[in-house]
Amino acid sequence: MKNLLLVLLLAVAYCSAFPAEAPKGNEENDAKFAEEYLKRYYNLQPNLKQSRKKGDSPLVLKIKEMQHFLGLKVTGQLDTDTMELMHQPRCGFTDVGEYSTFPGNKGWSKKEITYRILNYTPDMTTSEVDVAIQRAFKVWSDVTPLTFKRVYDGISDIEISFAAQVHNDFYPFDGPHGTLAHAFAPSSGIGGDAHFDEDETWTSGSNGYNLFLVAAHEFGHSLGLLHSSDPSALMYPTYHFIEPSEFRLPEDDVNGIQSLYGARTEPSEPEQPHQPDETPSNCLPNITFDAVTTLRGEILFFKENSFWRQISKNSEVETHFIKTFWPSLPNHIQAAYEIQDRDQVIVFKGITFQYV
Ligand SMILES: [Zn+2]
Ligand SMILES: [Zn+2]
Repeated sequence: MKNLLLVLLLAVAYCSAFPAEAPKGNEENDAKFAEEYLKRYYNLQPNLKQSRKKGDSPLVLKIKEMQHFLGLKVTGQLDTDTMELMHQPRCGFTDVGEYSTFPGNKGWSKKEITYRILNYTPDMTTSEVDVAIQRAFKVWSDVTPLTFKRVYDGISDIEISFAAQVHNDFYPFDGPHGTLAHAFAPSSGIGGDAHFDEDETWTSGSNGYNLFLVAAHEFGHSLGLLHSSDPSALMYPTYHFIEPSEFRLPEDDVNGIQSLYGARTEPSEPEQPHQPDETPSNCLPNITFDAVTTLRGEILFFKENSFWRQISKNSEVETHFIKTFWPSLPNHIQAAYEIQDRDQVIVFKGITFQYV
């Protein structure tokens, strides 16, 4: 029971949301908004009236704590800078690390972490989501001995989903802006999972919220990191757009993750080291394919150990190794077709078939 309570406390501290937009420019509304914010992210105890002791009230103490953590001038007042920062879009994870000493919160005890994308946002193509998620994991695998393996069914360590409002974890999202996403610290069950607020507009560019940047931050929590008070850190609680191609993991985050998992000893770059062969050329004049199928509006052309993926009529064709996407599938498949109602593709080789 005690453990259950601790886990519950931990979860409350790690993952919460606050009401979206509050009107600005009104002292009473500011105070209300701030109180809610501090309850969510700074563990301000509800119903604590003015302290009987001399000195600052619990609310003022929490305002100071927040100002200190987020690098503001510590005034204890709800000044313009403080209110502005409180209204910035941010992560739903708490800013207070006092529960972080909970035994067992030391990251995953294994090096190969599995992840699964449970559903997709309609804001981006499935391919854009896949790439953003893969790149977000790579941020962390580049600097640690961890590897992230995508799985397509069954239970995985980190389950990724998009959901709006109430979504089965006691931490409802709050509509557009406010909380963008939240994630759970490593453990079994919901531990490690990352949820993205579907009421946000997700992009691979700078309009709306960049999924790669938010996912990279959330996966930091999925791996056991808390928020950083270094404004240049990826693990700082608020959202800041950086051109993804220019993104480099800041030193503060590198130090944080390496304190949990150590540094990478070999280069992580070859994402397909298990593929001794080259992908076949798709420019031969008499090219034939092993199989062709649609999948969620895309067209997949299979040949030998690879497939080409045409996302839309005008998009460039991508080439991938079959095993990078579906490790359990054989090479040289013979036929494939999509069952749209079940959102599955059935793949044949010889007398066997497999769903993916
Ligand atoms: Zn966060
Ligand atoms: Zn959630």
